[in-house]
Amino acid sequence: MRRLWTVLLIFALTGTGVLARGRKNKQPVTVYIDHGAMISTRSLSLALALAHDMFAPAGVDLKWRPGRPELEPGDIVIQITSNTPASLHPDALAYARPFDGVHVRIFYDRVAKMGDVRLAPRVLAHVMVHEITHNLQGIDHHSTDGVMKAIGRLKTSQAWRASRFRSIHRTWS
Ligand SMILES: [Zn+2]
Repeated sequence: MRRLWTVLLIFALTGTGVLARGRKNKQPVTVYIDHGAMISTRSLSLALALAHDMFAPAGVDLKWRPGRPELEPGDIVIQITSNTPASLHPDALAYARPFDGVHVRIFYDRVAKMGDVRLAPRVLAHVMVHEITHNLQGIDHHSTDGVMKAIGRLKTSQAWRASRFRSIHRTWS
C-alpha cells in the first residue's frame, strides 16, 4: 500500500501522473456506487469512464460496482445524493473520510449546477477522483492546482466555471 500512496501523492502533487505512466501492473481498487440522485445512466456511465481513465496513469485500475455490499479492506463506497441541505458543508461539492478510507459522499445537485449540463459528467468525474484520492492517501492534503486543488470552501461560481474545469480536465487527458 505504501507504494500506491507514494504514487498517488506524486500524481496529486504534479497533477499529471507523468511519472507513473507506463506502469504495467495496475493496482485494482473496488469502488461501490450507491446513488439515489437524479442522474441519467448515460451521464453516470460517462463520469465513471472518465474517472477510470483519469486514474489509469497513476497505475490504479478502478473497478466500479453498484450498491452497498459487504466491504473488503481497501474498498471505497461513493454515495451520490441530491437535495443537499444548504447548511451541510456549504460550498462543498463532496466530502471524503480519508481517515476511515472508505466513505465518500457527493452532492450531485450542487455538481449539476456547476455550469453547462453537458459538463456535469466531467465535473462529477473530477470530484470522484479528488475524493477517492483523499481516501487512498488517507490524508486531507490539497495541492495548489490540478485535481487535488481544494474543492470545498470556495465560491463555486468562481472556482468551477466551465472554462476552469476544461483547463483542469485537459491536464488529465
Ligand atoms: Zn479535498
